[in-house]
Amino acid sequence: MRDFSQAPFLVIWELTQACDLACRHCRASARPERDPAELSTAEALGVLRQIREFGEPLLVFTGGDPLKRADLFELVRASVAMGLRTTVTPSATPLLTPEAISELQASGISRMAVSLDGWDTQSHDSFRQVDGSYALTMRALAHAASIGLETQINTTVTRHNREHLLKIADLAASSGAKLWSVFFLVVTGRALAGDDLTAEEYEQVFELLYQVSLAAPFDIKTTEAQHYRRFVAQKKKAGQSVATHGPTMIQRQAGINDGKGFVFISHTGEIFPSGFLEISAGNIRRISLTEAYRSSPLFQVLRQPDELGGKCGVCEYRNLCGGSRSRAYATSGDFLAEDPRCVYVPKEATTLAAGR
Ligand code: SF4
Repeated sequence: MRDFSQAPFLVIWELTQACDLACRHCRASARPERDPAELSTAEALGVLRQIREFGEPLLVFTGGDPLKRADLFELVRASVAMGLRTTVTPSATPLLTPEAISELQASGISRMAVSLDGWDTQSHDSFRQVDGSYALTMRALAHAASIGLETQINTTVTRHNREHLLKIADLAASSGAKLWSVFFLVVTGRALAGDDLTAEEYEQVFELLYQVSLAAPFDIKTTEAQHYRRFVAQKKKAGQSVATHGPTMIQRQAGINDGKGFVFISHTGEIFPSGFLEISAGNIRRISLTEAYRSSPLFQVLRQPDELGGKCGVCEYRNLCGGSRSRAYATSGDFLAEDPRCVYVPKEATTLAAGR
């Protein structure tokens, strides 16, 4: 497993919280107007130089909708010129024109990620709470395919779409997406507790993802469901096959968790372990990104699986998985507590219970 004490694998940067959609689960509780306190273009260029000090982590420009910032293309060009592999996650609104996508490609992005939470117009648009979003998503994917731009589909699993995930997987396959990134709910922002699944249902979705992964033409990764890695490791241990199309995201993600291989920069420059774990290690206007990531007590403790509480702290998968620190915090107020959406009972917990 890689050492993430000095540099993250992935930097997610929320350029703005402005967005013309109103998605039901939105982490950022996005709204149409930009925040006057957002980082300026000059500040943003400085942040890029700081990110480059880590080496060459993957950089994702997200939002809100990054296209709400007029300087997005300038920032992408600067990022690419510095040698950072750069992905953009625009929202499917009228701003996402074929021309904008072509310009993103010309600016040098490696991949465009779009969200797809429904399996047809009605289901997707009701989730996004804006009519026409499904059609714009499909247009964006088709245009990207026509110009040879790599794409990724992001899907948030909720009670509303869990029965239809195979249909979304089919859409991902037919669109030519390279990665299906499946987000599991953390009840923060606009997300509602009633939309989340039970721990047993997480396991059922893991089985579905695993089955899809065996034949899909795309890779699969999970966000805030670190225990999918435990699920796949258990399959491997039991002698069952795992996806064979090259080094998979599940291998590359091994050990990554909030603050461990992963850092999130907010639209106002707060340095968070994750966009779903809004505890700041400082503001980039006052503290360097490398210092916050490498030396802040917050990030340091998040990289110590032995500090975890509950069953995650004694679990034999804690280095590979470690549970969602964001979900632990959202549900208990303690970011080191166990992930409440995991069914697994660690061997040590069983031994302790038997010895009682
Ligand atoms: S108990 Fe915690 S560390 Fe173990 S698999 Fe579940 S979430 Fe991961």
